[in-house]
Amino acid sequence: MGSVAEPELAEAHMRQLLGSLGLDVNYVRGQANTLYFLDNGQEHAVVDFVGGYGSLIFGHNHPKLVAYAKQLLDAQVPIHAQFSYHPYANELATALNRVHRREFGTAEDYRAIFANSGAEAVETALKHAEMDRSIRLAALGEQIHSHVEEARAAVAAGAAVVADQAYDTVGVTDRSADSYERLVEAVHRHNEPKFARSPLFLTLEGSFHGKLAGSLQLTHNSAYRLPFRALAAQARFLPFDQPAAIDKALDEERTFVFDVVVRDGVVDVVERELPVIGGFFVEPIQGEGGIHEVGVDMARAIRAAADAGGFPVILDEIQSGVGRSGAFFAGSHIGLTGDYYVLAKSLGGGLSKLSVLLVRDSRYQPDFELLHSSTFAKDAFSCHIAREVVQMLEADDGAAYRRVVERGDQLRAMLERIHSAFPDVVKDCRGRGLMLGLEFQDQSTCDDEIIASSARDGLIGYVLAGYLLREHRVRVFPTASASHTLRFEPSVELTDDEISQLESGLEAACQLLHERAGARLVGA
Ligand code: PMP
Repeated sequence: MGSVAEPELAEAHMRQLLGSLGLDVNYVRGQANTLYFLDNGQEHAVVDFVGGYGSLIFGHNHPKLVAYAKQLLDAQVPIHAQFSYHPYANELATALNRVHRREFGTAEDYRAIFANSGAEAVETALKHAEMDRSIRLAALGEQIHSHVEEARAAVAAGAAVVADQAYDTVGVTDRSADSYERLVEAVHRHNEPKFARSPLFLTLEGSFHGKLAGSLQLTHNSAYRLPFRALAAQARFLPFDQPAAIDKALDEERTFVFDVVVRDGVVDVVERELPVIGGFFVEPIQGEGGIHEVGVDMARAIRAAADAGGFPVILDEIQSGVGRSGAFFAGSHIGLTGDYYVLAKSLGGGLSKLSVLLVRDSRYQPDFELLHSSTFAKDAFSCHIAREVVQMLEADDGAAYRRVVERGDQLRAMLERIHSAFPDVVKDCRGRGLMLGLEFQDQSTCDDEIIASSARDGLIGYVLAGYLLREHRVRVFPTASASHTLRFEPSVELTDDEISQLESGLEAACQLLHERAGARLVGA
């Protein structure tokens, strides 16, 4: 038989793009921070600083987690037994609550709803927040309805008359027969479209909360978001570090409906505020936006605005959580307590895919459990693995968190050295724990055309990634929405040798940028 090449059907376009940057490597094995690819039957090692985009706090195939996974499979643990009792899910929820109480000093429980991916947990949070808002909307609607009825009875009994001012407020000019009913019709006409309006979610500029229909509208990157904006409720993106902008935005978004009151025999129309804000989504440390930690003043202002407005703060700890910052919850460093939390990525230990939404007991809607589900969510395998991950982080009085801090400090010290050695190339170095970023200077006006055009096309981070992989066997990637910031999210197993290997690579890459040697950077 002739050897006709098989067509490439799984994202061939992406493969081609990766290929043009030398990034279409087929990794066949992974352990700790090392990935291996084959060349002529020979394994070649690559040091991995991408860490599964932050999903590998314990690295690739951690032996303890692998052994535990094998044990679960050997024991024939039923993985999909939906609609039965799942004590392992409860144990995981309990473990997460224990950690939360320690880090935030709170006593309140958080209820857990399970999902499969980060974006799915964000969508689950969106739905729960909307359910909460709908209940508040319905309560307001019922109050207005009973006030309308009370006033109708008072008018019919001759105990009250409608104030001229009330007609003026709702714009009724014809005040002949049945005029109270005209007033009520005008109130309804005014209120109905407002009650039917989509919720508005608040989040910060640079945010990344996923790429599904709803979560995408919370993701700031306009290239991802705008083509799909008709699909879901919109978000308002607030400046990252301007606490005063929150109240200003809330004032602008304030929406009022009409209510009817009877006072001293007079029917009047008053305004009532409608709950339009569905929630405030915050990444305590933005990942895809370029590794930015929310400031303490901003955190305080977000919390205060939510408390005053009655809407939940939803902390997206999908990337920053599960130990990456040196604490389980990155929000704990800035004193930002969430009403909801979303966790995913590293919670699956690099072996399973799961995510979880935690909701503060006092805001939790038990009926949500009857409305929301997924075939794969809350499966035994991933819940057991995740509980083991939490145990590994918590073991020995939090030794793993201390290790994240110590390893993170070493890595950061190296990145700072690069920053100070190449100020014309590197703009900033930032982050916390093992969630670090190195921002490069804008090179779009560089007089080397290869470098300048890569920068203009948003590819400079990928060009650097291609160079570091090819020449230094180091795997790095930029953050998704800030392509001139390289991210470093290795596991706690990070060694000094791995840091040195990255240092040599970054030094050489910066030297080439400094010399404007674009051709050598792309290997031309
Ligand atoms: N939120 C944050 C903060 C993330 O970093 C990501 C993924 N980068 C997501 C949500 C989406 O998670 P997933 O890719 O699992 O859908």
